[in-house]
Amino acid sequence: MTTESPAKVSEFEHSNLEVLYTAEDISNRVEALGRQITAEYAGKDLVLVGVLKGSCVFLSDLMRSIDLPLEIDFMSVASYKDGTTSSGDIEILKDLTKPIRGKDVIIVEDIIDTGLTLHRLIDILGTRGANSIKVAALLDKPEPRIKKEIVVDFCGFEIPNRFVVGYGLDVAGRFRNLPYVAVIRDPDQL
Ligand code: 5GP
Repeated sequence: MTTESPAKVSEFEHSNLEVLYTAEDISNRVEALGRQITAEYAGKDLVLVGVLKGSCVFLSDLMRSIDLPLEIDFMSVASYKDGTTSSGDIEILKDLTKPIRGKDVIIVEDIIDTGLTLHRLIDILGTRGANSIKVAALLDKPEPRIKKEIVVDFCGFEIPNRFVVGYGLDVAGRFRNLPYVAVIRDPDQL
């Protein structure tokens, strides 16, 4: 009996994806952010708080670009949407494992869209006695920000108002494993 392996269908060379930032572009930018954070947080009690699931790839690379002692922790939140837009109400699905009192926190996000989820998260973490709370986001879409102004202290790239996937970002759970960030050419062809 012969066992033939199935034909490989590449996820990384999908014809419906248009690359926006290559793995090299991202790596260069993340290293620059890491150097900036290293310079600003020397002597501080740094905790990186990743917002699951989208930030997992960015956080993994960012933490290895920061040449300081640091801890990591994670939160998972669900945002309630009014139709397609975020309402700003969030439910905490998974909270931090340790207190952040006296710590210097950087919230690590994959992408800031309306900014409402992050604004609410900053409100919640802001009641817990941290010494400081700042934000690192790989991608920022400044255009659709509707209500709340968010300061993204450490921003990878500002992007136009398009739906992107890869490097942690998904559509219906897929494409998080792409080593680059891409735009879906035809959303009807997924
Ligand atoms: P908002 O800032 O509107 O409250 O929500 C931000 C969240 O919406 C992000 O953490 C991400 O999960 C999702 N999101 C916003 N824009 C995009 C996008 O272009 N691609 C993907 N995959 N998710 C997005």
